[in-house]
Amino acid sequence: MLRGFIGRCPLCGKGKLFRSYYDIHPTCSACGVGYEATGNQSTGAMGINIVLTIFLGFIGGIFLVIYASDQLMQGLLALLLIMSIFHIIFYRFARGLWLGLMVATGDLETGKDERG
Ligand SMILES: [Zn+2]
Repeated sequence: MLRGFIGRCPLCGKGKLFRSYYDIHPTCSACGVGYEATGNQSTGAMGINIVLTIFLGFIGGIFLVIYASDQLMQGLLALLLIMSIFHIIFYRFARGLWLGLMVATGDLETGKDERG
């Protein structure tokens, strides 16, 4: 899973996962596993991303109420901004993470022997 997270092929750890910051390679350049074959990997990555963004907002909200309750409005605006930036930046990692998850659960078609 960590391999996908750092932008490497979750299966072999050698091939690069990303063509550009957001574009993912259709297959691994090293082992040839098809990343797009899972079909719903973008949806899954989006799900991870949304959950984490909401989690961040939740933590930030608690922090605001406790430490900055007299400036709640400014705090909320700043928090929304941070959440948006986090959401955009983290999407890349969420995609890698999701692919790693697919490999871990065996959903990614490998064409190789099972490795657990
Ligand atoms: Zn690979």
